[in-house]
Amino acid sequence: MGNGISAKCIYGNGEKFGGDKTGAISFPIYQTATYAHPEVGQSTGFDYSRLQNPTREKLEKVVAALEEGCDALAFSSGMAAIGAVMELFQPGDHIITDMDLYGGSVRLFDNISTKNGIEFSHIDCVKQNAEDFVKKNTRAIFIETPTNPMMRVVDIRKTAQTAKKHNLLLIVDNTFLSPYFQKPLLLGADIVIHSATKFLGGHNDTLAGIVVVKDEKISERMRFIIKTIGSGLAPFDAWLILRGIKTLPLRMEKAQENAKAIVEFLRGENSVTNVYYPGIEETEGYEICKGQASGFGSMITFEVQSREMALHVLKSTRLIPFAESLGGVETLLTYPITQTHADVPKDTLKKIGITDKILRISVGIEDKDDLIGDLAQAFASFGGEQ
Ligand SMILES: *Cc1c(COP(=O)(O)O)cnc(C)c1O
Repeated sequence: MGNGISAKCIYGNGEKFGGDKTGAISFPIYQTATYAHPEVGQSTGFDYSRLQNPTREKLEKVVAALEEGCDALAFSSGMAAIGAVMELFQPGDHIITDMDLYGGSVRLFDNISTKNGIEFSHIDCVKQNAEDFVKKNTRAIFIETPTNPMMRVVDIRKTAQTAKKHNLLLIVDNTFLSPYFQKPLLLGADIVIHSATKFLGGHNDTLAGIVVVKDEKISERMRFIIKTIGSGLAPFDAWLILRGIKTLPLRMEKAQENAKAIVEFLRGENSVTNVYYPGIEETEGYEICKGQASGFGSMITFEVQSREMALHVLKSTRLIPFAESLGGVETLLTYPITQTHADVPKDTLKKIGITDKILRISVGIEDKDDLIGDLAQAFASFGGEQ
């Protein structure tokens, strides 16, 4: 039995599917809401699909194996996953988060979780020490790394030490690098979250979210939450994510190779004033990222000379669509200030450095010459259209 990550992507924990006489290689879609019981007091292991469904369970086992967790739970979106994790906390609890997070997480924390009595400190987890913000009622630290969209790198091991010392949960949103490049549970995190809509699914065709946990106790609580709030992933969507994961290693490698070439191109382009990518050696986070991940991924953020140039590039690419989201086979250009980060408070945007000159590119698996050619013609045509 193969223990490599590619085998895990295809076979999960290595259990052969034995429930089907046809010998189906692709795990079946159990499109059922409920299950017949053999007799009173007995169960096949499945009672009702809000609690569990075989296709969802298969996906959960595959991701648990990839992240090396004890359990994983699949939700209807990344935000549903993060929302469910917030149900672990009580009114009066305090959570420390990095200030540079996916905009939807900030919206959830500042509007829904705060209303439910949870208190937040949004700090700079790169420059500040999380420990200085720990209070009596602090229960968790929530980070992403590299951060969205400024690609800053948070030291997972160091943050985990602080969490351990004060008995806090360390929650890491691992969407940007996926378990192919980074496994936060092995670096000391307690909970890993994914928007499986992105790299895990990989085809921009399904919304899904995953929570992976390190120990049984949190698993039990999360299982209670998923069955109670009912935001588990539907069987067909679970199957699409399972299918996407089979090619995760190939996609991650190809997208990263393309990203490195695009970074080089952008750094040589006159109208580009800054490129943010953790794989650039002179970058602040390079060494930390190298020490905690096996790759730098395929997300690049860059700054152009003016707002007009940013808007021009967004409407002038011929191949690359201007769309939110990331992690799919299609390269996408995003304008964080009006899209992913539209609901983030203005002073936070300023602190993080998200301006109207900042563009984000999620690099896909097309041929790199086509991508560079497309960007080059977009830059070159600026000013030539009046
Ligand atoms: C997209 C995203 C989310 C939210 O996931 P959805 O599947 O869109 O609900 C959370 N975190 C990060 C880092 C993301 O990129």
